[in-house]
Amino acid sequence: MKKNISIVGSGLVGSLLSVYLAKRGHNVTMFERRPDMRSTKISAGRSINLALSDRGIRGLKAAGIDDDIMQIAIPMYGRQIHHQDGTQTFQPYGKENQAIYSVSRGGINMALMSLAEKFENVKIKFDQRCTDVDLRKATAKFHDEKTGENSTIQSDIVLGTDGAFSPVRLALQTSTDMFNYSQTYLEHAYKELVIPANADGSFRMEKNALHIWPRKSFMMIALPNIDGSFTCTLFLQLKGEESFETLKDEASQMNFMRNYFADAIELMPTLQHDFFNNPTSTLVTVRCFPWSFEDKACLVGDAAHAIVPFFGQGMNCGFEDCVVFDEMMEKHGDNWKALFEEYQTLRKPNGDAVAQLALDNFIEMRDKTADPKFLLRKKIEARIATEHPNFLSMYAQVTFSPQISYHTAYNEGQRHGVHLDKLANIENVFEKWNSDEVQSVVRELVR
Ligand SMILES: Cc1cc2nc3c(=O)[nH]c(=O)nc-3n(C[C@H](O)[C@H](O)[C@H](O)COP(=O)(O)OP(=O)(O)OC[C@H]3O[C@@H](n4cnc5c(N)ncnc54)[C@H](O)[C@@H]3O)c2cc1C
Repeated sequence: MKKNISIVGSGLVGSLLSVYLAKRGHNVTMFERRPDMRSTKISAGRSINLALSDRGIRGLKAAGIDDDIMQIAIPMYGRQIHHQDGTQTFQPYGKENQAIYSVSRGGINMALMSLAEKFENVKIKFDQRCTDVDLRKATAKFHDEKTGENSTIQSDIVLGTDGAFSPVRLALQTSTDMFNYSQTYLEHAYKELVIPANADGSFRMEKNALHIWPRKSFMMIALPNIDGSFTCTLFLQLKGEESFETLKDEASQMNFMRNYFADAIELMPTLQHDFFNNPTSTLVTVRCFPWSFEDKACLVGDAAHAIVPFFGQGMNCGFEDCVVFDEMMEKHGDNWKALFEEYQTLRKPNGDAVAQLALDNFIEMRDKTADPKFLLRKKIEARIATEHPNFLSMYAQVTFSPQISYHTAYNEGQRHGVHLDKLANIENVFEKWNSDEVQSVVRELVR
């Protein structure tokens, strides 16, 4: 039976989910708080660009939009590490040609909305801020940001793809018994800065890499854009000796940048302007359960599991949610309660796992990528991967292997860590590579 479905939020996940629902014949109306970014010059919110990897590509493929997106995506084959002494090293992400892709958030969101609107059973209503949801009745209240009018929309089902501060989730929280919820902020916040293109449009740094300036307790990263620029993101503590709080004036800010990011600042002509005009944004992890209410409402994407951005998986995980949601539509047909229940049971452990992976990867990126012990572990892992083609590192499982769940990848990563540490602690491990001492651990690892 065809349902009338309201989706709150036409961000990345809501727009993709609407395509899956439309393909199954449901009538979908998306309500988006912001104006239409295709006709109004507004920022797409949060980060300007994002790393898209295999899980996300799989989600786009099933909607038939992967080719369009890949045409405007820039492959990044590894991490380009900028050390404090000005030297650089390159750490590949995977085997030859394996890459993650830098894509424009606005570009991908606009492409998805336009694709959705090609279906006659999908409508998007902009400037509609959801203010309340009555889960039992499947009604949602909206405030029109332009006219100031309020309306109440009745549908069969309300889906919340309204991001980290989801009002649909709030309704679940206030009307469900035993709703588990936690919200944890990092002590670090982020600010976007820019390295513009050269006058001829060429890139000022290696184009096909994700650049990292690891500085132990903080870091900066940069992802390429198709116009030849890089969007840099500085992740720094909000308070403390070296923090956003203490970088209050131009002198202290320049001093800090010169100390830690000397090779970058000469590429950033608008640094001071960007630093003092761009917002400082916080980073939150949200865990909650259940994600659904009877056969009436369900959360998808960040609304169910907002995570910090350090594994580059939030959008990818949200797109994977859509794939699983679609599989559940196939399996359960008109039984929406069973559909929601199996969807949330399957996805919750993966949401938790990817949240933890993202938190762990912050420490890896900002601190360990410049640490000799970590680099030795990476070399050992790479050698094992060459000699045992079936072995997949945890990074490869998360990033290049959508057939492996986040949950499994996380557990495997913990197991690998124990064995890789053992190997890294063997003195001159590469000289003893074929010894039983080394090979017995390798055998355990690749088991
Ligand atoms: C700095 C940063 C970098 C990131 N980098 C990556 C990356 O490299 N790779 C990756 O995979 N992920 C990345 N992420 C995560 C990614 O941005 C999110 O996981 C993704 O945007 C989630 O999509 P969503 O549609 O669930 O939520 P959102 O993108 O937040 O979309 C929610 C939508 O709902 C709308 N909305 C909110 N409230 C209301 C309301 N009351 N009424 C109506 N509409 C409403 C919003 O306007 C928005 O359009 C990053 C995040 C950050 C912060």
